Amino acid sequence: MTVPEEIKKEYDQLVSKIEYHNRLYYVYDSPEISDAEYDRLFDRLLQIEKEHSELVTDESPSRRVGAPPLPAFESYTHRVRMLSLQKVTTPAEFSEFDRRVREGLGIDDDTEYVIEPKLDGLAIELVYENGVLTVGSTRGDGTRGENVTPNVRTIRSIPLKLTDEAAAKYPLLEVRGEVIIHKTAFEKLNQAMEKNGAAQFANPRNAAAGSLRQLDSKITATRPLVFYAYGISDTALPDLPTQFKAMQFLKKQGFRINEYMERVTGVDAVAEKFEHLEKIRPELDYEIDGMVVKVDDFKSQTALGEISRAPRWAVAWKFSAEEAETIVEDIIFSVGRTGIITPVAKLKPVRVSGVTVSNASLHNEDEMLDLDIKIGDHVIIKRAGDVIPDVVSVIKEYRTGREKAVTMPKVCPSCGTEVHRPEGEAAHRCFNAACPAQVIERIFHFASKDAMDIEGLGGKLATQLVEKELVRDPSDIYYLTKDKLLPLDLMADKRAQNLLDAIETSKKRELPRVIVALGIFGVGETAARLLASHFGDFKAIQNAEFDELVTIDGIGPIIAQSTVDFFDNIGNKRMIKKMQTAGVEFPSYATQKKDTGKLSGKTFVITGTLSKSRDHFKKLIEAAGGKTAGSVSSKTDYLLAGEKAGSKLDKAGKLGITIINEDEFYRLI
Ligand SMILES: [Zn+2]
Repeated sequence: MTVPEEIKKEYDQLVSKIEYHNRLYYVYDSPEISDAEYDRLFDRLLQIEKEHSELVTDESPSRRVGAPPLPAFESYTHRVRMLSLQKVTTPAEFSEFDRRVREGLGIDDDTEYVIEPKLDGLAIELVYENGVLTVGSTRGDGTRGENVTPNVRTIRSIPLKLTDEAAAKYPLLEVRGEVIIHKTAFEKLNQAMEKNGAAQFANPRNAAAGSLRQLDSKITATRPLVFYAYGISDTALPDLPTQFKAMQFLKKQGFRINEYMERVTGVDAVAEKFEHLEKIRPELDYEIDGMVVKVDDFKSQTALGEISRAPRWAVAWKFSAEEAETIVEDIIFSVGRTGIITPVAKLKPVRVSGVTVSNASLHNEDEMLDLDIKIGDHVIIKRAGDVIPDVVSVIKEYRTGREKAVTMPKVCPSCGTEVHRPEGEAAHRCFNAACPAQVIERIFHFASKDAMDIEGLGGKLATQLVEKELVRDPSDIYYLTKDKLLPLDLMADKRAQNLLDAIETSKKRELPRVIVALGIFGVGETAARLLASHFGDFKAIQNAEFDELVTIDGIGPIIAQSTVDFFDNIGNKRMIKKMQTAGVEFPSYATQKKDTGKLSGKTFVITGTLSKSRDHFKKLIEAAGGKTAGSVSSKTDYLLAGEKAGSKLDKAGKLGITIINEDEFYRLI
């Protein structure tokens, strides 16, 4: 069968296009197109290759892993080739992979896998000869990479030496892993770059790659690079029969191992872990784009072998595309609870990460100007976790000249009051406290789960209540009656009664929730608990002075000032009075915290170096009803362990006490 001329032409163009973008991405660290666009090109290439296999040559991008090294670094040939992984994106595709594994091994039982997040960084190999780090190299095209030994030595998470025991047992050891920059470190790095007038990095991956591949390793040394080991090259070493054992060994040698690396059995367990990982992804301090799944047993790995460009015993299960292309149908301005006016792009609905999306936040005027976004533009949007998506870029090549530019409104779209952008702030705001859009948001916030938790009072009902002038501020909720509610849309007798019952129940909410509900700028759940436990009762918080507020660990000057301002405001005073008259209890906190806090009855021990003082954590624990103790015993419920935790950590481990880090702690309270 001959290949149609136009297919051949398209294929050749795709090959050179992908090669071009490959170089930009892998060699120069400055991609011009998004990953989603790149994947689209690559998928089309694979599709053509599938239909016309006679077109495929050794030069096809599908046969390569990355790109050859820059001439400025010496090249390094890997003793054992660094493979790239085949991709799957759905549970069905993963099941198919698992089926082939079991078929290849001739087993019916569930397969043992080792899983870990797929870090989005730069793969490198470290060679230890007689226990000493002698070579560090990038993956390059998998066969040959760049020798970046001096740079690698500057990375503090890479051991320069193994233990004597390991050196004797494994005279040659090649460790593989990923070099990344944590998200928080990336923010700081970019701030520093900006301060020094240098160009900022587009994302943590580019920053990591650019930092590692510096000809001057002194520059590398100043960059916050981190190495996570994910394996060894040799699967026939004594006493290291499995991937999991190898990882445990590396951990003992001082390598950083991903916290979510674990061994699981069977396809369902892997799928469950994948789902969990996708859920916690936005909270992680590093960028990941999926999960790597490896057959645990090394002998099985060898038996399975590899196909043209990837091992048969491992797979990268990627998250569904986070980015998508769509069209901006309109740009509107929404007014938030505190009067902040946010430009929002109304999009032609598009599927991203398995969800249909029709809005993207443009954040503020500056971001809008930076993007140079217009109505009618084609844009790439990106969604991470449950948050509203962002517009990543505008595809200006698609412009026809009929696109319409938009500027920030001069007056509030809800109430018509003139809007201001306060000095030094990014946001435009409507300062009219009676602004209907703000009132609706305040009502919605007041009734939300973390605040007064009034079931049945959502955004739609809040809008009706405000538009029908039944509610002017949240306290009016407590003066609603069935007569007032029944004329509203979709409000039957039963629903009205349920709502009134829920409102009645909410009068007894504990003090921190009431404080959250008030909607003081900057005061969320944590600050509300701090205020409640420091002052004990509501009256004391109302009368608190700035100087006392700032002495509370965890309350900064901004929150202190906004708290004082809030209670000084005559409208707020009236609202609180109305709540009290209606019977909202504002229960004192000192007497109730013992048995109702989230951590009531729990004993904590704190050890190691944490990001804030131990006292800070102690106060948070007590504010949530928990206790702290000085030493670990069988009565300890949690050990909060920071960096360099010592004997307490060992003891807690032996006693089987739950050990948590800071992130886990914050999730607990
Ligand atoms: Zn307004």
